[in-house]
Amino acid sequence: MTWHILGAGSLGSLWAARLARAGLPVRLILRNRQRLEAYRQAGGLTLIEAGQAQRFAIPAELPQAHAPIHRLLLACKAYDAQQAVASIARRLAPGAELLLLQNGLGSQDAVARDLPAQRCLFVSSTEGAFRPADFQVVFAGQGQNWLGDPHDPQPPAWLSELQHAGITHQWSPDILARLWRKLALNCAINPLTVLYDCRNGELAGHSVEVASLCSELVALLQGCGQAAAAEHLHEDVLRVIHATAANYSSMHQDVAQGRRTELSYLLGYACAAARRQQLHLPQLEQLQQRLIKHLRERGLPLD
Ligand code: NAP
Repeated sequence: MTWHILGAGSLGSLWAARLARAGLPVRLILRNRQRLEAYRQAGGLTLIEAGQAQRFAIPAELPQAHAPIHRLLLACKAYDAQQAVASIARRLAPGAELLLLQNGLGSQDAVARDLPAQRCLFVSSTEGAFRPADFQVVFAGQGQNWLGDPHDPQPPAWLSELQHAGITHQWSPDILARLWRKLALNCAINPLTVLYDCRNGELAGHSVEVASLCSELVALLQGCGQAAAAEHLHEDVLRVIHATAANYSSMHQDVAQGRRTELSYLLGYACAAARRQQLHLPQLEQLQQRLIKHLRERGLPLD
C-alpha cells in the first residue's frame, strides 16, 4: 500500500523520509508544477538527523494525477487542510484512510465531514522538525505521535509499518482528549510568549496570569466533556514551561517570521467552544483580543 503524503513541509517530509528509508512505497503530492519542478531540481528530499544528511529520491506528483489513493498523510497547516484535501478528493478510494497531522482542533472535523466514505485518523505529534531550505528537513526533536479515530477504537493493522520506519507512535483510544489537552497547553503558553515576546521559560515570571488562564481552561475542558484532559493541567503547564524554557513557541516563531498562525484552531477554537457552552471565561477572551490586536499591528492574518 502506497503512502501518499500531501504537504511536503517539515512534518510531511520527516514522515516521508523515514517511510522511504524503511523501504516502504511513498509518493509526495506537491501543490503545482512549479513546486514539482523545484523538487526535481533538488533531486529529492533531504533528511538531516543528528547532523547527518541523507537524500531520498521519493517520487512526486501533482494533485490531479490519476492513481487512486488508499492511504494519505495530510501534513499541511490546519488552515490549509480542507482546501488541500479537496484538491485530491476525487482520487480517494472508498474506505481510504487519512492521517490528519494538524495541530489544534477544528480542521480535523471539517475534513472528516467532507469525506463520509473515508476513515479519518487524528494524529497528535510532539515531534519537532523544521525546514532549513526547500525539500530539506531537520529532525529537531524526538517525540511521540498519538493516533486515534474518534469514531472507531480499533487500531489499523498497518501501525507495524510505522514501527518498522522508526516513527514512534502509540494508538490512543481517546485521541480527542489528547488533542484537547495539547490545545489547552498551547493556549496557556503560546499566546503569552507572543505578547511578551519571550521564550517559554520567561513565563515563569508571569505565574499569576498563567495560573488564572489554567483555571479557565480547566473550566472549559470540563464544560466540553473533557474532564480527563483537565486533570492537573496547571502542573503540566508549569512542567512544559520549565522543560522547554530555552525554546520559542511555534506561535512565537510564526509571528517573528511574519507567517500566519494557527490561531483559529487553538485559542480561537477554545474561545468559540466556550461561547457555545455559554461559559464566561474573561481571561481567555481578553487574551484572544490582545493577540488579535498584536497580529493586526503587524499586518498578519487574524485567523
Ligand atoms: P509546514 O512546514 O508549513 O508544511 C506544510 C506544507 O503543506 C508546506 O510544504 C505546504 O506547501 C504544504 N501545503 C499546503 N497546502 C497545500 C496544498 N493545497 N497542496 C499541497 N501542499 C500543500 O508545516 P509543518 O510545520 O509541517 O506543520 C504541519 C502541521 O503539523 C501543523 O498543524 C503544525 O502545527 C503541526 N506540527 C508541526 C510540528 C513541527 O515541528 N513542524 C510539530 C508538531 C505539530 P508549500 O511548501 O508549497 O507551501
